[in-house]
Amino acid sequence: MSEFSKERTLVMIKPDGVQRSLIGEIIGRFERVGLKLVGLKIMVPTAKHVEEHYTLDPVWRTVTGEKTIASYKKNGKTPPSEDPLEITAVILENLKKYLTSSPSIVMVWQGAHSVGLVRKLVGGTEPLTSDVGTIRGDFVIDSYEMSDADGRAIRNLTHASGSVEEAEMEIKHWFSEDELIKYRLVGEQILYDVNLDGKLE
Ligand code: ADP
Ligand code: MG
Repeated sequence: MSEFSKERTLVMIKPDGVQRSLIGEIIGRFERVGLKLVGLKIMVPTAKHVEEHYTLDPVWRTVTGEKTIASYKKNGKTPPSEDPLEITAVILENLKKYLTSSPSIVMVWQGAHSVGLVRKLVGGTEPLTSDVGTIRGDFVIDSYEMSDADGRAIRNLTHASGSVEEAEMEIKHWFSEDELIKYRLVGEQILYDVNLDGKLE
């Protein structure tokens, strides 16, 4: 089996996804693309666990603030602050409230290019501008402007790791190795085997 098939990513169905009965719909999108579910739990994390999750990546605070400022400016609006770290401090507090409000589903999906593939299926952070056909684009309405005005986190149904390094850190943060199952899916042969031998009778 190709080494590519070992790539793993951490995905969460956030409280709004669970509350809106979208668990099956969201899981179905990862299944149908050919990824393998290797870990899954339902839980209400602590605020500390949520903060640690988002700050595993040392540049997350800067990048997230900058992304928010850029989105405001692109839409001809004035951002709440010009300081990315100030913006992210507020986002982080709101994320803690959001993710401790009710249960989330936390999962590990495995397969070739799983990190990038899942990000593509999930769509951009802000549902208003997420592409049609993506989970965030298809199933939810929200914008930075609306969530910031209401002083809450943007509700976008899902979390997905942003890079392979981030994924490995996040997987360790949410799962112990023995909670992740090593197994073969029948369909993987068709996805990854070099020769499609033994199919003709
Ligand atoms: P993503 O989840 O797409 O990787 P980020 O890592 O930048 O996005 O941000 C983490 C989460 O924080 C987002 O999914 C969203 O719920 C929330 N968030 C990000 N930026 C904002 C913002 N400007 N206002 C409110 N919530 C935000
Ligand atoms: Mg992120």
